[in-house]
Amino acid sequence: MSLATIDRYDPDRVSRHGDHAIVVGASIAGLLAARVLADAFEHVTIIERDPLDGGTEPRRGVPQAEHVHVLLSAGQEIMEDLAPGFSDDLVDAGAVVCDLSREFHVHAAGDLISPGTTPIPIYLASRPLVERVLRARIAAHGRITLRSACQVIEPVVTDARETIRGVVVHQEGDTHEVTADLVVDASGRSSRATAWLDRLGYPRPSAEEVHVDLAYRTCQLRRPPDDLRALLVMPAPPRARGAAVLPVEGDRWFVTLVGMHGQHPPDELDELRDFAGSLPVPMVRELLEEREVVTPKVARYRYPTQTRRRFDTLEEHPRGMIVLGDAVANFNPIYGQGMSVSALQALSLHHTLADDGTENLAPNLYRRVGKVVEGAWNLAAGGDFQFPQTEGSKPPGTDVVNRYINRLHRKAHTDGELADAFNEVVVMRQPPTSLFRPKVAWRTLRPGQTPR
Ligand SMILES: Cc1cc2nc3c(=O)[nH]c(=O)nc-3n(C[C@H](O)[C@H](O)[C@H](O)COP(=O)(O)OP(=O)(O)OC[C@H]3O[C@@H](n4cnc5c(N)ncnc54)[C@H](O)[C@@H]3O)c2cc1C
Repeated sequence: MSLATIDRYDPDRVSRHGDHAIVVGASIAGLLAARVLADAFEHVTIIERDPLDGGTEPRRGVPQAEHVHVLLSAGQEIMEDLAPGFSDDLVDAGAVVCDLSREFHVHAAGDLISPGTTPIPIYLASRPLVERVLRARIAAHGRITLRSACQVIEPVVTDARETIRGVVVHQEGDTHEVTADLVVDASGRSSRATAWLDRLGYPRPSAEEVHVDLAYRTCQLRRPPDDLRALLVMPAPPRARGAAVLPVEGDRWFVTLVGMHGQHPPDELDELRDFAGSLPVPMVRELLEEREVVTPKVARYRYPTQTRRRFDTLEEHPRGMIVLGDAVANFNPIYGQGMSVSALQALSLHHTLADDGTENLAPNLYRRVGKVVEGAWNLAAGGDFQFPQTEGSKPPGTDVVNRYINRLHRKAHTDGELADAFNEVVVMRQPPTSLFRPKVAWRTLRPGQTPR
């Protein structure tokens, strides 16, 4: 599912369904879920383990924030709908707006994708800034309270163990219960939701996993204010290495180098330059050699496996609890989908509340969330199977799709209209299936030169 295949946010469609909802986690999924719930509940409390001081340093609970984060159009547009003024706030805080179609260079399947014919504005900022700006807008909502430096320990359950009616929290040395009609777990990849289900005697969701053995290394470079060069080098077999260069606020570039299946980037800056030299585009190495490094050390991140938990196939759910965001599914981050998938999930929650209310919320919601995850999963997990070393749950039809997408990429090296079709999918405005529409398929499959 993508932005084009889901109705936009419409607060007039939602009626009041409860008094109090709790959201665990004040990262992207939690903030957006809280904003949607504020239409249906008298009061929403977001509970976040980290202290939130309003700064733009990466925080402990979101260690990935030290690395490049691309906010795709789907995510940015939903954030704007749910928190009007978000995009202007981001720009006021220094975010760079660039045209993905002409200014953001993407290297895929052996060469740079051609400039497209239709502009796609994209907002580039560090991950902490995106979160801080979004949080400021969401926390200003009259029915939302944010409790930071407060850890959720476990659920509070009814005697019959059918319903979760709140959470036990630990804050400033004190442990106590907070009751609610609904608890939303948006606590990310370390979510304890499946352990909570075990404890209540409910089946846990099956998990699909795809092993990619991915590592990130990132440093930040000083950037001349008018130099807005942006680049993405996608790993392509046999080169399981890639990179992203992102201009962000504070006249900086985030430079991230990635390697899958053991081709990990090194830790030291000198070696990182050599690693960058092995990429098919010289820009990354040149920037690392010529520009001042403004971060004290190279940031590291290991991402061994992407995981999709099939809450959508469970037949039984406790009442009073749902799970959203990375806790449901997390994707190989080189595709930049996580924040936008969280936004699409929040929009799914909005439509579920509008259409069905809170009765049977979990199964009704997970049906929609399952569709959101499906498209993103097929793109990321499927794409990773172009590497023979990738192991795990292979989406059906992956090999045929990968051959087709590879041909489309190669044709898009010189075909601006194919680049448009590709870009619309990359930013999650259109679903991957749009790449099989007759017009796109004809341009992809027609005889003619497919460079390299
Ligand atoms: C290296 C890397 C790069 C990425 N790059 C991109 C990108 O380019 N574009 C993109 O869209 N996405 C990217 N992502 C994914 C993106 O970071 C996530 O999808 C996004 O943050 C949404 O996750 P979330 O809100 O579900 O969970 P998280 O961001 O993991 O946040 C979970 C929150 O819950 C809190 N928490 C956890 N346990 C408790 C508890 N018990 N009590 C209270 N609070 C708790 C944590 O402190 C944290 O604030 C990347 C991910 C990684 C790992």
